[in-house]
Amino acid sequence: MTKYVFVTGGVVSSLGKGVASASLGASLKARGLNVNLIKLDPYINVDPGTMSPIQHGEVFVTHDGAETDLDLGHYERFVGRRMQRANNFTTGQIYESVLRKERRGDYLGNTVQVIPHVTDEIKLFMRAAVEPDDDVTIVEIGGTVGDIESLPFLEAARQMRLEEEEGNVCFVHVTLLPYVSVAGEYKTKPTQHSVRDLRQIGIAPDILLCRCQKTLSADNLRKIAMFGNVAENNVFAAPDVDNIYTLPLLYAETGVDSAVGKTLRLHNMQSPDLSAWQEFANRDTAASDKVRIAMVGKYMELPDSYKSLTEALNHAGVHTGRRTHIGYVDAEQLSDDNAASVLSDYDAVLIPGGFGLRGIDGKIAAARYARESKTPFLGICIGMQMAVIDCARHCAGLENAHSTEMMPETPHPVIALLTEWKDRVGNRKEAASDLGGTMRLGGEVCLLRERLASIYGADKVEERHRHRYEFNNIYREQLQEAGMIISGENADGLVEAVEIPAHPWYVGVQFHPEFTSSPLTGHPLFVSFIDAAHAHSKR
Ligand code: GLN
Repeated sequence: MTKYVFVTGGVVSSLGKGVASASLGASLKARGLNVNLIKLDPYINVDPGTMSPIQHGEVFVTHDGAETDLDLGHYERFVGRRMQRANNFTTGQIYESVLRKERRGDYLGNTVQVIPHVTDEIKLFMRAAVEPDDDVTIVEIGGTVGDIESLPFLEAARQMRLEEEEGNVCFVHVTLLPYVSVAGEYKTKPTQHSVRDLRQIGIAPDILLCRCQKTLSADNLRKIAMFGNVAENNVFAAPDVDNIYTLPLLYAETGVDSAVGKTLRLHNMQSPDLSAWQEFANRDTAASDKVRIAMVGKYMELPDSYKSLTEALNHAGVHTGRRTHIGYVDAEQLSDDNAASVLSDYDAVLIPGGFGLRGIDGKIAAARYARESKTPFLGICIGMQMAVIDCARHCAGLENAHSTEMMPETPHPVIALLTEWKDRVGNRKEAASDLGGTMRLGGEVCLLRERLASIYGADKVEERHRHRYEFNNIYREQLQEAGMIISGENADGLVEAVEIPAHPWYVGVQFHPEFTSSPLTGHPLFVSFIDAAHAHSKR
């Protein structure tokens, strides 16, 4: 039987509730517990798959093919557990399910209402995500206390406290202490108000995590405890940190994990083994040489759009003893004319995933520059597709080669939906499988050869996908003759990776390796990429 920790947020959004939940998960795991995590998102979209990453940040893809909130990425990175579709649900999904039941007649005779029907559905979804041997399930409730949107989730959490046995539910409220510099002090009032808001809906928090710039005085903590009606040693300062992966260490040091353990009466907690996190922190402090990576994309307004990717580069940097500096280069501002002047300041070029026409020419120009200047290049998903287009146009002489996503009428659809592949006389080739026209999502086996196999140290890996378009196998030979080889394929013969053997380090992958990078081990592809960038910087 699992115990539950509900994590709520007060005062403002963007407090780092996801990182706090994940860090708490890591510190409880270090004490020998099985930790599960769930994220509840109050918006009405069924999932974030159709949302622009500029709105809520990256869409994180789970191994089982769900498009989820980016916080699930933090959960996987901190707790090392594969999240699944059930670990993230939205108001949209809850209503979809309730309405389906209503149409089916499941509530026949009853008026369907937020309480109890919607809140029952929320509890059902939550309990469905729990595995039998989970000791603790951390449930992060998205949004800020006081929002209309998240009320049904909070109400469901309140009911859980009543339904569960005494000591099985703990409420952690993450709040903000603003520092008013003219007064020279932290202000506790917004926290007092947000705790009052919570209590008004029947939830008395057990633990307060007070986000602050540096540290809080004993006086501050005492005052917050008194006004919040929380035990004094359950109020914690949660200062900003340079490296989020030091948080499991900080939580253990300040006793956040033991406070949760005490509230939940977790008698099976061992003394914490945080050696792996300590080692990561030591490596991070020791990292010296800087490598500069140009990330050529188009969702630059919000760095969270590329969250897993920036984390994966950071992990690889720490594992190779280097500081990665990421320069965001707006693809829309890039062309063949200025690519060299913009990109020559960097040690490597990276094109992350993306959709649609905007910024495409700049991405092709970036791939071309990296190829011609022998700068290390990693193309991910659309980045691989743009590398193929550059090579088709400029090495294989296929004029106006393109992806049918951006140019449906291209004479050379080197990237296309499976159903669009045509042989030379124009007959439509039958799709190798029925993936055409739908998004390919989630983990799949990829068979590796050439340099990629030695980078991974394996000839078979599992990586995650999120795309509709594919390398068009009709052009396979022409591209190979032009110098681009295929080094990864799935079991159906779909191309998953390309390389240019005549180039020092030029790799395109159709999958997203960033989703499987772990801070504690780093990801082989990114580690090799950072090594290549470092070697390039020393040339
Ligand atoms: N837009 C491309 C496709 O759907 C690439 C998607 C991506 O980069 N994630 O195939």
